[in-house]
Amino acid sequence: MKNEMRIRQLPANVVTKIAAGEVIERPASVVKELLENSIDAGSKRIDIELDNGGVDRIAVCDDGCGIHADDLSLAFASHATSKLTDAEDLFRIATLGFRGEALASIGGVAQVTLQSRPPEEACGSEVRCNGGDLSPVRPWNGSPGTRIEVRHLFYNTPVRKKFLRTTSTELGHVSETVTRLALANPALHLTLKHNGKLVYEVPATAGLLDRIGLFFGNEVRARLYGVHAERGPVTLAGYVADPACERGTAKMQYLFVNGRWVRDRSLGHAVQEAYRGLLMTGRYAVAFLFLELPPDQVDVNVHPTKAEVRFRDAQALFHLVLTTVRARLSAENLIPKLQAPTEAAGLAPAALPNPPPTSERHNGRAPDYHPPVFPTNGTSPAAPPVSLPLPVPPPAEPTLLPPLPPMRALQVHDSYLVIETPEGMLVLDQHALHERILFEQFKRRVRTGTLERQRLLIPEPVDLPADQAARTLEARAELTELGLEVEDFGGGTLLLASYPTLLGKLPPGEILRAVVDFLSARDRTPNREQMLNDLLAMMACKAAVKAGDRLGPDQIAALLEQRHLAADSHHCPHGRPTQLLFSRQELDKQFRRT
Ligand code: ADP
Ligand code: MG
Repeated sequence: MKNEMRIRQLPANVVTKIAAGEVIERPASVVKELLENSIDAGSKRIDIELDNGGVDRIAVCDDGCGIHADDLSLAFASHATSKLTDAEDLFRIATLGFRGEALASIGGVAQVTLQSRPPEEACGSEVRCNGGDLSPVRPWNGSPGTRIEVRHLFYNTPVRKKFLRTTSTELGHVSETVTRLALANPALHLTLKHNGKLVYEVPATAGLLDRIGLFFGNEVRARLYGVHAERGPVTLAGYVADPACERGTAKMQYLFVNGRWVRDRSLGHAVQEAYRGLLMTGRYAVAFLFLELPPDQVDVNVHPTKAEVRFRDAQALFHLVLTTVRARLSAENLIPKLQAPTEAAGLAPAALPNPPPTSERHNGRAPDYHPPVFPTNGTSPAAPPVSLPLPVPPPAEPTLLPPLPPMRALQVHDSYLVIETPEGMLVLDQHALHERILFEQFKRRVRTGTLERQRLLIPEPVDLPADQAARTLEARAELTELGLEVEDFGGGTLLLASYPTLLGKLPPGEILRAVVDFLSARDRTPNREQMLNDLLAMMACKAAVKAGDRLGPDQIAALLEQRHLAADSHHCPHGRPTQLLFSRQELDKQFRRT
């Protein structure tokens, strides 16, 4: 065996650098570790200073409990901590740190000065650590708390240093770290200075909402809905933003577990699920969610930088987030409102119209819904009015139905329907609305097993490339649920034996081809739930009236009448809005009537 293949113990300075590689990736990682220590020390105020994105210098100063002179050099030893005593403690962690390796790691790859004074001591002490080499402890005459200065990060690990980006990128990462800690600790006074200039000053009096406003702008702040739910010992609280605040990434979905910012794919997915139908594909909701649960229900010791945790009952939490957020969004009237361009406040919850008196909210219909009694089509004024039956009044409250005023409807550009509602003027996208209605009808029937299917007297053969045929046959069970029965005829030919009656106006072969295209556009087969949902959305889209289709008065009436059937009729299944409300107030304002 060659000599270099022999096993040997690595020297301590190499071990430290390896450990540091896991925890300290860039200036932001240093800031995170230092801030977490300050928070664990019970600080009320923390001041951060950076030079050159933190690469040249990071200084963090706090007013916490401080470190005793006797312990000062121990703070830089690896696996030295005051936060954990035995292995059992690992399962009831109430502090942000517990591994005792952050200062050791930072001290191994930078030049650090640590100064500290517990408030009850008359004098503090100081120690330096340069690339792992400790200086003797000296007295330090400073105010109570701890001050740490980290200079020349990665000065002794040039390869790591090469991975650092521009000053502004590194500053961006630090600022994200500060944001997360500021949101998680709303009573903390925080300041951040870069190259001597103040970047953030977050006073202790700024609560969570103010902090959100400070970091993300008032546009987001004004469009938040508070959420709160409790399930046994678990609490979920925070804010979710109006779908109008959507973003291109999931970065603005902040999740905090017991005061710690974490990333969690499953809970992120729960948030997105809750917004299903309210966002376009590929767009992400904005949310600030805080989960509190007993420490023994979450393992925080599964990730080097503790950015991920493991839950004992991840499924229950998924359900809690999904149902809580979903319920909150449904409670809001999420029709996008047209705003004057000068108004940045947007969808302030206070600006939403007041609910109509209860007499108008009969039969559980949407508040702005009125039975379409005399709809007329603007393009054919001579058309006779079509009457539709009024909803049957609930027997307990027969006096609640005074005849309702007739609703006027107008089709414009063969694409939009304009109607008058008590709040103002509603413009509906005929395709998006019809698509949503069909989608909801479909979904309900599939769920209740009442979907009607049309059997074909002679099954229709559809020729496909072999892989596509195989792919389609794999999804056979789901397709059957959707009323599409396919059989294998061999040689890449499928036989379509039935199709859903709701899609009656489309040629059956075309329906199957659309399904095949849809399935082959994905690189892997989605799960059943997802597939049913997406196929339903796709079929609803195919079957719906199109923009450009001229509708007769009865078609318009039927569409408007079914509007209430779609619980989510504010958006089409692809997330485009189905309707826009021009409020009476807004119209009056625009025409300078108020
Ligand atoms: P951990 O936070 O996992 O315990 P660290 O290496 O980050 O490990 O810190 C080691 C120890 O140094 C901490 O346990 C704590 O006792 C002490 N310490 C570090 N920073 C501070 C601070 N700002 N205020 C008070 N004590 C601190
Ligand atoms: Mg720590």
